[in-house]
This record gives sequence, C-alpha cells and structure tokens, in this order.
Amino acid sequence: MTDEHRQYDVVIVGCGPTGATLGLLLARSGVKVCILDKARDIYPLPRAVHFDDEIMRIFQNAGIAEKLAPCLHVNAGMRFLDQEGALLLDWPRPRKITEQGWHASYRFHQPDLENILREELQKTECVDVRTETEAVEIKDEGKKVRLRARDLDTGRKQEMTSKYVVGCDGANSFVRQSLPQGTEDLGFQQKWLVIDVILKSDMPQLGEYTLQYCNPNFPMTYCRNPGLRRRWEMAIDETSDDMAVQDQNRIWQMLAKWVTPECAEIERTAVYQFRSLVAKHWRDGRVMIAGDAAHLTPPFMGQGMCAGIRDASNLAWKLSSCLRNGHNDILLSSYNEERKPHVRKFIETAVQLGELICSKTPEHALRTFASDAVEKNSMKSLKLPLGQSKLSELVGAKMPLVGTLFGQPGLLSGKKMDEIYPYRPILVTFKPLKESLYPVASSEEFPKLEEVLTESNLDGVLIRPDRYLLTYTENRAETVSLATDQNIRNWFA
Ligand SMILES: Cc1cc2nc3c(=O)[nH]c(=O)nc-3n(C[C@H](O)[C@H](O)[C@H](O)COP(=O)(O)OP(=O)(O)OC[C@H]3O[C@@H](n4cnc5c(N)ncnc54)[C@H](O)[C@@H]3O)c2cc1C
Repeated sequence: MTDEHRQYDVVIVGCGPTGATLGLLLARSGVKVCILDKARDIYPLPRAVHFDDEIMRIFQNAGIAEKLAPCLHVNAGMRFLDQEGALLLDWPRPRKITEQGWHASYRFHQPDLENILREELQKTECVDVRTETEAVEIKDEGKKVRLRARDLDTGRKQEMTSKYVVGCDGANSFVRQSLPQGTEDLGFQQKWLVIDVILKSDMPQLGEYTLQYCNPNFPMTYCRNPGLRRRWEMAIDETSDDMAVQDQNRIWQMLAKWVTPECAEIERTAVYQFRSLVAKHWRDGRVMIAGDAAHLTPPFMGQGMCAGIRDASNLAWKLSSCLRNGHNDILLSSYNEERKPHVRKFIETAVQLGELICSKTPEHALRTFASDAVEKNSMKSLKLPLGQSKLSELVGAKMPLVGTLFGQPGLLSGKKMDEIYPYRPILVTFKPLKESLYPVASSEEFPKLEEVLTESNLDGVLIRPDRYLLTYTENRAETVSLATDQNIRNWFA
C-alpha cells in the first residue's frame, strides 16, 4: 500500500546533527523540506562532546544558540601527557570570545543538542520530519529525484519526489550507495572503549582540561564534559572481546585512580572502531551526501560532527539558490570542491594526533609531527580556507582571502552581526551604500570592521551565508559596482 505522493524541494535522509542543521538552514530561505529518519527518536547515548566557535556560529544562524548556550561548558583546552605525566604538547583554548563571536571551544552532550535541533524543527513550518521512516530506494530522474521510504511502524510504503536529496544518514549511509562508489582511507583504524560517567557531586581535582595520556602501554583520553559528566576513552586491542572489555568490575579497576562507585556511576560503555575515511564522490546529479555519510575521523580533535555541520552550512544556501534560479552544476560542484580538502586536513591532523597518543615513542612522534597546527610543544586550532572551486573563478575573486572564514563583529549595542542578518549574504564596507542588493554592514555600525578592512587594505568584502568570503573590493568604486552586480547576486538566490 502506498501513501499519497508528496512533493518537496529537498528530502534529507537522516535527522542526526547534520541533517537537522541542514533542515533548519534550508528553512531560513523558505525551502520545503522533508527529513526522514528510520529511528523513532534521537540517538540517546553520548557520542560527540566537543565543538568549536565556527560551529556555535552556525548553530546561531540556524536559530538554536540561545537554547543551546546553557547546556554548554567552555573548554579550557587539551593537554598531551607523557608516560610520567609530564606535559608533551599543550593546546590551550583561551576563554575569551573569539573573532567568531563565541568561545573557541565548547563541551556538550550530543543528546542535548539533538533534542534542541528537533524541537526547533518541530516549530518550523516548511519542514516535515518523519521518524521511523526508512529510505529504501532513490532514483535520480534528471529534473527530480524519486524516493521510496518505508514506515517502520505500519510497514506502509511512501513515495515522494523532490528537486534534491541529501543523505545525512551516517557512517553506513544508504544514500552513498546510489553515488559512484569509492572511499579514500587515510590510514587510521583502531578499537577504543568509551566510558561515560556521571559524578555524584563535583570533583574539581579531576581538572578542567581534556587530557591525552600518551602512554605506550595504555593510551587514553579524559574529557571534562558539561555538568557532572566525565568521559574516559581507552585504546584496546583489536582482538579483544568487546563484551569482556566492558565488564563493570574491570572498568572500575581501570578508573580507580580517578573515580569509584562511591562517587560516580557509569552512564554507558561502548566499543568503537575509530576510522579515517573520505568518500570520493559527494554528489551525483541531484543526490548528495553530508556529515558522517561523506567522511569519518578519529575523534581526537573533536571535529567529526563539526565537519558535518560545516557541510550543512556550505550546502544549504547553494541548494536554495538552485531552487530559485534553476539547477546550477558549478554551484553544486563547489560543495565538495570546497569541503573535501578542508575536512581531509582535519582528518589528517586527527590521525597524527591519534598516532602520537598511541606511539611507542611519543617524544619522537611529536618531533616529526607534520602539521601547521603544531609547533614544538604547542598546538593551535586549525583555521583553514575552503578548497578552490570554479565558483570563485567565476565571480572574479582573487586569492588569498577568498574562501577564508570572516569574523562576526558586534554592534555598539552588543548585538552580533549574524543576529541581524542570519544566514544571508552580507556586504561589509566602511560606509553605508545608497543602493545595494545585499544587507550592508558598515564600520559606522560595527566599529570593529574598520580595523578589519584597514588591516587587509580593503574597501569591502562580500561574505556568503556560510560566512566564508566570496570576493572583495579595494576601493569605493569597486564596492559600489559589486553592491549592484545582479550576476553575482544571482549566485545567492
Ligand atoms: C565516541 C565518539 C566521540 C565523538 N566525539 C566527537 C566530538 O567530540 N566532536 C565532534 O564534532 N564529533 C565527535 N564524534 C562524531 C559525531 O558523533 C558524528 O560525527 C555525528 O554524530 C555525525 O552526525 P550525522 O548527522 O552526520 O550522522 P548520525 O548522527 O549518525 O545520524 C544519521 C541518522 O541517519 C539515520 N538513518 C540512517 N540510515 C537511514 C535511512 N536509510 N533512512 C532514514 N534514516 C536513516 C539514522 O537513524 C541517524 O539518525 C564522536 C563520535 C564518537 C563515536
């Protein structure tokens, strides 16, 4: 039996953090979205525990920052210790607000985030969320995509068509199977035991830092998560029995140095295979993938989900532009051209950190660490430009600023720039313009902008809804012309 046929602009398969964020960002431009998830509810157990300032800014643009903020803990940083407990490598995360308008690094509980995303989706009129609905067949028919799904509760078949389908359906993505096959393996595969603990009362002696124990005999991570939640992750032997390593007595013995059943309870344990994979093909015609469906990283930088959220932010405005102005292959190809090298660099760095943590000779591994993020004993966060795409060539943009993430200055009143122009292109310049196809943020309202423009010797910059820089101008005449250039405006819908 088949339900009535439904039509959408975009069908998203998977309502994890990537799919839910994509849905909210698409809804910003009134796109009619259906999100399917085969599970009845959100995944209830903790997975991700960290995200950064860029991701909080995307959540702000998706409309959930205010609700999310009280659930977060500002992260002090990460320290890598040697076998004797001496500091090998320090990755401090200053607690001040960064140029993105948020703290550099947050600790969170993934189910809190997913609940907030779902609540926001429920309130959003143009988004239809269907749980217990599994996508089972996808057919790209050229001008539209036909998708068949199964209601797991009633067994009923559902059929829908949409202009685009995005698979945000996680590591074992079904949608990925409908794209040309192929995955690049960046060489990391290890089994880790993850133990989530809830303290009965605060234990400040456990410390504020995430600790990476680079102990050749017992590589391990400690995470200071929000509230009373704490996590320990331990590398385990590939051949070990997954059930046996989760034996509660054994776990309490391993944790005895820090916590006991008197002061804490185990929330859950799980064994994960940490992998480092990037799908070769992220799009074929009108079908594409994002998030874990497109890439997997070991979690040592806390960047797996972050990459999926960046995918969503990169893709949503491009899809909405295609829906308004007609399918645009150059714009959609720029999605994977820009995102793939970016996420690859994060994965490569996470793999190296994993190798450092598990090395038999951590000092040597640190000396030979090949990444811009690490210099001697100090690590800094990666701030990478997007990969080059035909899009920037077409809008006449010049390197090197193009494709870099632009900051979020505040108004004199304290409001942040994106609060006023959420997920829209913005033309940033010194003085207001008489005529402009974009909202204009001038240094008269945002004093910080004067410094930013003067420092780079620019008159104006055009930033995209995902806050990466599309193009810039060096004098007022160029700015006036960019502000009224309908060809460039058409890229944004
Ligand atoms: C131990 C651990 C620690 C981590 N730590 C961090 C961290 O600190 N920071 C960080 O950024 N990331 C971290 N991650 C990674 C992060 O959890 C994932 O990257 C993130 O959950 C991926 O989100 P997603 O939405 O892409 O996929 P998922 O969360 O996997 O969601 C996919 C959804 O698709 C649905 N689905 C699948 N197939 C179908 C189908 N055929 N039809 C309908 N629905 C379907 C599923 O039910 C699911 O809800 C960690 C992961 C682990 C395991």
